[in-house]
Amino acid sequence: MHKPRILWLNVIFFTLTFTGAVIWVPWHGLVNGFDAAEWLTFFVLVFASGMSITGGYHRLWSHKAYKAHPIVRVLYALGGALAFQNSALHWASDHRVHHKHVDDNDKDPYSANKGFWFSHIGWMLREYQPERYSDYQNARDLQNDPIVMWQHRNYLWLALTMNIGLPLLLGWLNGDMLSMLLLAGLMRLVLVHHCTFFINSLAHVWGSQPYTDRNTARDNGFLAILTYGEGYHNFHHIFEHDYRNGIRWWHYDPTKWMIKGFAALRLASDLRQVPEEKIESAKLQMQLKHTQNKVARLPNAEQLLSQLQHEYEQLKQHLTDYYRAKKAALEAKGQQLKEQDLHQQAALLQQNFYQQLRRWRQFTARIA
Ligand SMILES: [Zn+2]
Ligand SMILES: [Zn+2]
Repeated sequence: MHKPRILWLNVIFFTLTFTGAVIWVPWHGLVNGFDAAEWLTFFVLVFASGMSITGGYHRLWSHKAYKAHPIVRVLYALGGALAFQNSALHWASDHRVHHKHVDDNDKDPYSANKGFWFSHIGWMLREYQPERYSDYQNARDLQNDPIVMWQHRNYLWLALTMNIGLPLLLGWLNGDMLSMLLLAGLMRLVLVHHCTFFINSLAHVWGSQPYTDRNTARDNGFLAILTYGEGYHNFHHIFEHDYRNGIRWWHYDPTKWMIKGFAALRLASDLRQVPEEKIESAKLQMQLKHTQNKVARLPNAEQLLSQLQHEYEQLKQHLTDYYRAKKAALEAKGQQLKEQDLHQQAALLQQNFYQQLRRWRQFTARIA
């Protein structure tokens, strides 16, 4: 089969930066050492560039999960140039295609079905989809954002200034330009590259599928640590407009915390959040499916399956009742007497729901 043209510039760029980061930087560290200011700058720039991708390119521009003040958008544009992952317009356009055609080997630009290497970096090494390279029709909204377009038009010099100029300036202030360039420039660039590439590769093969199995995306708490919270990728692929990826408070999702922080400072607004009921319902549906598959092999499958279906329906009903009551209580805010009543009712229904949920868990554990 005829293979697409190799993009030599990308091949050379990725090879040289990677080789430099694994050989030159450690060698320089052994011989000259790195001081505290260099390490500190390294960590600050790791988060600044990485979270401009996750908070800016991804959750703000690709998915419109919230609105951000121009100051924040300018910071994201600069951080995105530092991350060297192409312009926000280009990145978001690719990413929207990824969501729309996830796992489709012809359309998804980094389809996980084409293997780990391809989804991690291989997709950037050959000209796989030349026909839509500069086609930004699926990102017309972003073309109205002057900050996005300013970054897009000036991407190359911005990226070079942020990746070479900034470390050199900081190194000059600190008294050693080369060490700063190697650690906060080169090492940081390669590390953030591969950590964010993991979201397309590892987060589509390693982890659990609590919300959907209609695509390869996985939830993986460990991966969240490397990806600024984007390891909860199974959740993300079903509820892509939610500003969170890790939805529980204990989920490590620094991007979510940053967005919340911006909102507290009035630098972000309209944070979108999927109703809890929808999330619970998706989870229950997956549990039903798993249990059905396991039970189907048992000798008394028919009877168990109908029992299972019955339990599921009951639980769904409790879930709906509880959230309906909760919503009514919220809507009655201000009308004191009514509000109190409704809150009591919601609390009771919540208890019923949790009771039924326990029953469901015991039942599915027993039969499967
Ligand atoms: Zn994905
Ligand atoms: Zn996404």
